[in-house]
Amino acid sequence: MLAANVSRRGSFASTNADSPVADGSPLVCGITHFALFIRLFASFNQVQMSTLASPTPPETMVFPPEQSKDPPALTDIQREILELKETRNAVILAHNYQVEAIQQVADFVGDSLGLSYKAAETNADCIVFCGVHFMAETAKIVNPEKPVYLPDLDAGCSLSDSCPAGKLAAYKAENPDLYVVAYINCSAEVKALSDVICTSGNAVKIVEKVPTDRRILFVPDQNLGQWVSQQTGRNMQLWPGSCYAHVLFTQQAIERVRLEYPEAPVVAHPECVQSVRDMADEVCSTEKMIHFCSNNPAEAFIIVTETGMIHRLQREIPEKTFIAGPTDFCACNECRFMKRNTISKLRDTLRDQKPEIIMEEELRVQAEAPIQRMLEWSH
Ligand code: SF4
Repeated sequence: MLAANVSRRGSFASTNADSPVADGSPLVCGITHFALFIRLFASFNQVQMSTLASPTPPETMVFPPEQSKDPPALTDIQREILELKETRNAVILAHNYQVEAIQQVADFVGDSLGLSYKAAETNADCIVFCGVHFMAETAKIVNPEKPVYLPDLDAGCSLSDSCPAGKLAAYKAENPDLYVVAYINCSAEVKALSDVICTSGNAVKIVEKVPTDRRILFVPDQNLGQWVSQQTGRNMQLWPGSCYAHVLFTQQAIERVRLEYPEAPVVAHPECVQSVRDMADEVCSTEKMIHFCSNNPAEAFIIVTETGMIHRLQREIPEKTFIAGPTDFCACNECRFMKRNTISKLRDTLRDQKPEIIMEEELRVQAEAPIQRMLEWSH
């Protein structure tokens, strides 16, 4: 059933963008068909389980404090990667959701915007971006002079694919007065159609700067958009896209783990649905999760985002315990697109200097303008 929605880069595209936008209040009216499928499946599953058998919740995944102060020994392939990196004079940028083996050999680990800054600043001859396609594109947009490689070009994103540029262009043509605020998790073509870009870390600040006489269309994440609207009091139209991984977290699954660890604050990403955000002690971007968990006196935290984030939390705050936010079906939640990059694909990319992100200069320039506006408004 899922394969029917696989797009060109292997992502699940939202299928309800024919009437793409949820308007007014209640702010979020649209749900992607995929999310709807998940919820229907979950409801069906709950009925089945309650009538046929006792549900068996997945065992909680706990990452206790790191005992050893020494960095882990590198494997042969990791050493090979470091040698190739030296030979190519490459910089390796890894998103927080990458597998641990990749994070261990990266020069920088961070979120998509932070890594794009690193891409723009680097003196290296080439950039290897271990993340998904739109992130490597963003690195190319801000640093056009250098080749940008992505270990697996099929590392797409359900959220990015839920807002096809053609549908956004058509909607804008019908509604020319709209001011388009685009979450950075979108394609270069969508960025080029937008007025300003934002990240989950600066979205509130960016939306507050949009002139009050302009109607805002927020793309592509309806959950982040709803949260920003609630924080700012700004009414916005929301594009009905979502991250397939973050909508799998449910209130019921998080309640269950909180009963096990009542002292542990729940830290959730704003791409989660409202019922999960409402029960969180902190809703924030992955970068802010580091600061929150460092500064909060609690010894353990329930982390409600992609599980790769816990590798970074463990490295930077080794004295604390992290508990993976579960879904109804699994003890953790991995993004299958992020995990298309593997340590062997990273080695091959450095060795063969491909696959490379190629972009028309006209598109790059158009996509760069709203990113520059974001940077100006972020100060
Ligand atoms: S976690 Fe969600 S938003 Fe991030 S790359 Fe995966 S599908 Fe896209």
